[in-house]
Amino acid sequence: MIGGGHAGTEAAVAAARRGARTVLLTTSLETIGQLSCNPAMGGIAKGTVIREIDALGGVMGRATDLATLQFRMLNRGKGPAVWAPRAQADRGLYRRAVRALLEAQPLLTTVQGSASRLLTGPDGRVCGVETADGRQLLARAVVITTGTFLRGRIHIGTSNSVSGGRAGEAATTTLAEQFGELGIHTERFKTGTPPRIDGRSVDLARLERQDSEIERFDFSWSAFWDRPRREAGRTRHPEQLPCFITFVEQGAKDVVQRRLEESAMYGGAIGTRGPRYCPSIEDKIVRFPDAERHQLYLEPEGHDTQEMYVNGLSTSLPVDAQLELLHAVPGLEHAVMTRPGYAIEYDYVPPTQLWPSLELRTVPGLFLAGQINGTTGYEEAGGQGVVAGLNAAARALELDTVAFGRDRSYIGVLVDDLVTRGVDEPYRLFTSRSEFRLTVRQDNAIPRLYALGESLGLYTEGERRLAERRLRDEAEARVLAETTSVTPEAALPVLDACGESPLSHAVPLFEIAKRQKVALRDLFDATGVGTTLSLDAVTTADLEIKYAGYLARERAAAARLQRLGTLALPQDLAYDRLINVSVEARQKLAARCPATLAEAASIPGVSPADLQNLAFELGRW
Ligand SMILES: Cc1cc2nc3c(=O)[nH]c(=O)nc-3n(C[C@H](O)[C@H](O)[C@H](O)COP(=O)(O)OP(=O)(O)OC[C@H]3O[C@@H](n4cnc5c(N)ncnc54)[C@H](O)[C@@H]3O)c2cc1C
Repeated sequence: MIGGGHAGTEAAVAAARRGARTVLLTTSLETIGQLSCNPAMGGIAKGTVIREIDALGGVMGRATDLATLQFRMLNRGKGPAVWAPRAQADRGLYRRAVRALLEAQPLLTTVQGSASRLLTGPDGRVCGVETADGRQLLARAVVITTGTFLRGRIHIGTSNSVSGGRAGEAATTTLAEQFGELGIHTERFKTGTPPRIDGRSVDLARLERQDSEIERFDFSWSAFWDRPRREAGRTRHPEQLPCFITFVEQGAKDVVQRRLEESAMYGGAIGTRGPRYCPSIEDKIVRFPDAERHQLYLEPEGHDTQEMYVNGLSTSLPVDAQLELLHAVPGLEHAVMTRPGYAIEYDYVPPTQLWPSLELRTVPGLFLAGQINGTTGYEEAGGQGVVAGLNAAARALELDTVAFGRDRSYIGVLVDDLVTRGVDEPYRLFTSRSEFRLTVRQDNAIPRLYALGESLGLYTEGERRLAERRLRDEAEARVLAETTSVTPEAALPVLDACGESPLSHAVPLFEIAKRQKVALRDLFDATGVGTTLSLDAVTTADLEIKYAGYLARERAAAARLQRLGTLALPQDLAYDRLINVSVEARQKLAARCPATLAEAASIPGVSPADLQNLAFELGRW
């Protein structure tokens, strides 16, 4: 594995768990698991990916649990099927936890060094790596996970541009040059990061404070599976820290507008595309001129530092303009900037050149994972790392490759989108990218993936025991829900607490659990059953009961969409009038005018949900 970021670490652990002797080669052992940008893990769709990685034995969930400073369950208002766990991490703790987990992994060795050249055999197959200091590491398969380092160029303003893979770290250039020799096509993307500030210089008392949610959450099975749910409040997390909210208002907007031409992105220094969903403050102000204000979160970087991350203020303005901008934000009038924000441009490999195993179609034995494949985000990188690691091990050990279906995981959606549709801007996961988003949830990663992990031999004996207990707990919860009745008296406090009407006679628990607001675990408590079952297992059983009808419809809709693939689309279709289709999809459909629904499906940015709505609107038309 080349690279100790999020793709590389997961790839290394996955390959070693699959049984391959694995070396992780990275430029610095100290930066293994480094969070390059926001110290936050999870969120919409991404939280589910962390749980999928964890279900397959990966490190991201375990390290997050050891480093969580603040936790929130996003989408709570929308029902548990789309809940999205998100944790703020202590940057230093996270890095150290990842490194310790890697060093505890049998068959895996971490080595410091910079890969400068791939070794290839006479048949064109990759057979190892040469480092910048002249060492040769021979391997039957190589995974490259160099993130933003490939010919990286850092920009701060229009006149400050230096070669670099991340602030203070050298870019990787010789590998990039060799890609050309091997016939691997590359293109360029950009991304950016906000300035950091000294928390002591912020007037925190004037800002809205956001505390961690009371209910704690563990991403990893290893944390909660062996604990009865009554003890689930206990946690391994360090002490929780608050975030603070402030806004970019008129004063700060004026600064950006006045100095826009000096921004690397707007002054012509960078012409490439960046992540649509993590726009810079310059982008936000240009694209949404009528927005009164833009929210910023001040997030603590860790227990051992006063530094804060200014989430929402990504910028490539010159340093003095960044300081002027910070000082125009309420509460930051006297802020000390500890590091300026910057934009970075880098090479990526358009991922349609890859097999679904993430092996390059034209270079046997060479796999790519992470930001190098045109994605953005730690979780997207980690998910690809698992796929590339398992398949590189399979290549080395002459085993079967592993495929992840779209209907079984977000990792499957991610890889399928990348290799079949490609990317035209940095790719990020969303729930809307999956046509199975009720089936593929954060709570049920183990039921979805354990059989696969077990068939690949990924688990230790202890983990196997925990997983099987989790599955047994879920089955038992379902049986208890069907076979236990609750009396009107016992159900009254539960129903009262969520504003539901009382019962007139005793009914089986699963009948009441169908009501959206009533939690099965509260019904178990009211009837004194299932108290030793794991909370996660009870949640899954609960959601399977609540969403049984929707789940059946989701599968039927997916089958219908497959049949509709050949449906012809009128060439004069007024896409801008299809209000149920997302704005992004409308723009992209109007630009391409696809001939069929299947062709529309191949356009990056047109999600399965957009296709369903397009088919529906066509029907009405
Ligand atoms: C400035 C910046 C801003 C970002 N902003 C966002 C954002 O807003 N939203 C978001 O979701 N994501 C953002 N990201 C992206 C996020 O950091 C990445 O998506 C994620 O880290 C990618 O993981 P990776 O494993 O592919 O690469 P990285 O995490 O970048 O890891 C690459 C690893 O490869 C190693 N390496 C590089 N070259 C060599 C070599 N030749 N030999 C050996 N090792 C090598 C590096 O040392 C590093 O350990 C940003 C990244 C940067 C740098």
